[in-house]
Amino acid sequence: MKIHEFQAKQLFQKYGVPIPRGKAAFSVAEAKQIGAELGVFPVVVKAQIHAGGRGKGGGVKLAKNAAEVDQYASSILGMTLVTHQTGPEGKLVKKLLVEEGLPIEKELYLSVLPDRGTAKIVFMASEAGGMDIEKVAAETPEKIVKVFIDPLIGMKGYHANELAFGLNLSGDLAKQFNAMATKLYKLCVDYDCSLVEINPLILTKDGRVIALDGKINFDDNAVGRHKDIQEYRDLDEEDPSEVEASKYELNYIKMPSGNIGSMVNGAGLAMATMDLIKQAGGDPANFLDVGGGASAEQVEAGFKIILADPTVKAVLINIFGGILRCDRLANGVVEAAKKVGIQIPVVIRMEGTNVEEGRRILNESGLNLITAKDVSDAAQKIAAVAKA
Ligand code: ADP
Ligand code: MG
Repeated sequence: MKIHEFQAKQLFQKYGVPIPRGKAAFSVAEAKQIGAELGVFPVVVKAQIHAGGRGKGGGVKLAKNAAEVDQYASSILGMTLVTHQTGPEGKLVKKLLVEEGLPIEKELYLSVLPDRGTAKIVFMASEAGGMDIEKVAAETPEKIVKVFIDPLIGMKGYHANELAFGLNLSGDLAKQFNAMATKLYKLCVDYDCSLVEINPLILTKDGRVIALDGKINFDDNAVGRHKDIQEYRDLDEEDPSEVEASKYELNYIKMPSGNIGSMVNGAGLAMATMDLIKQAGGDPANFLDVGGGASAEQVEAGFKIILADPTVKAVLINIFGGILRCDRLANGVVEAAKKVGIQIPVVIRMEGTNVEEGRRILNESGLNLITAKDVSDAAQKIAAVAKA
């Protein structure tokens, strides 16, 4: 799960990680109000979307006076912000963060995340922080310092010292940095984060270390045990079909390029099916695992979600009936088909429990379904009809 910068900064504040003074605004009037309350200029007006690169895309502006706060809030709120992380379609800006503009001496990069390869928590830090960190990582990776921490031992002073040294910090700045990094480590572990990133972490002209940006991603499988962050979920930022699927507890992921929808039971079979579609020359439009014990209602919901996707030109249903019986699947498909009306070809491969009954239901439904004898036959047939 992703959250907004202003929400990440609320968590930073809770852990004592220094942030600029500021507040989220949902209208231009609120932005002006917050700007006035800050009582200093410059004030920074920042688009809140679940993507980075906002600065370069025109979503972060420095206002020198109240009139400029008004002007920037009006232009950013409601704009479609395109950044290298949003894709060409961009994202509609519905929220702002209005905060004090700080005098930047230097922009650093700092992140902390679990590293699967070493099964440790890794800090990554760089003196070359700011808006070009991707370029630094690609061209001069030696400018990024990594410190690995065994989670069973936890973060120690020497870990923080190594990072501070790598960032060329000493004296009071190193002291501030060490305290901050230790708190960040705790936040990352406490909340099962898959990423905590500050870019830029700044040194101000008056010698302070402050998180100027904030990005936190949470492990979706752990969100259930953190009630306080569940309210941070912003459905506006998620793919509407994925939101719909999550209501029915379906594992659905929209794929950007393909035109073949698929509905499969079991994540392994769903992935194998996508591979087979590719191998047969097709291109999957989604991943959908209805789960081992799906009900007719879930099957119906899954099928409707696939059919509602305008890029889908053909649908492949590949079910191995175990706990999910084939007759139940067939009923779900027929119900959904009656309700939405299918205009595109549907290929079905179905095997397992009650398969005869399932086939009978499909045959007697009057629907124009193409049946496949096995998985590779299904993949060949779906690729062919999607091309045609
Ligand atoms: P993004 O990473 O999406 O581009 P940032 O929050 O990192 O957004 O902001 C982009 C740049 O804007 C920063 O690198 C920094 O130079 C400047 N900036 C952001 N917030 C402030 C602030 N409160 N005071 C001064 N400059 C800021
Ligand atoms: Mg940033």
